[in-house]
Amino acid sequence: MIPEPDYANLYAQYGHYGKKLEKALRLVMSRGVKLHRFSPSQREIWTVVGREGDQLVDESQPYCSCRHFYYRVFGGKDDLCYHLLGLRIAKQINKYDTVEFIDLEYLPFLELLLKDMVNLGKERNSR
Ligand SMILES: [Zn+2]
Repeated sequence: MIPEPDYANLYAQYGHYGKKLEKALRLVMSRGVKLHRFSPSQREIWTVVGREGDQLVDESQPYCSCRHFYYRVFGGKDDLCYHLLGLRIAKQINKYDTVEFIDLEYLPFLELLLKDMVNLGKERNSR
């Protein structure tokens, strides 16, 4: 049996995020957080599959490629988006998928990811 995450603990820690915490938890429980690990360099790319497609996330920056992050967080109105919160929780409770790659695949992978995000942006803008 897969152990359930310690919700009480998570709510105590992140409860002040309210709705954002719920969205982040839904993300984590649906295994939307993915680690792409490249060998032998051990470079890591984290992505989060959100409602608007894959987002590139980086906790160390912190950075997320979503619009909320761009407008609200860069704009100083918010400290993070639910993708980044999901990433933090996923790491904390160890609930994410790891996909192994070789280093040769690093650039093509990044290109594909960025292209997807650009296309998503265009679709959104044309609506
Ligand atoms: Zn985001």
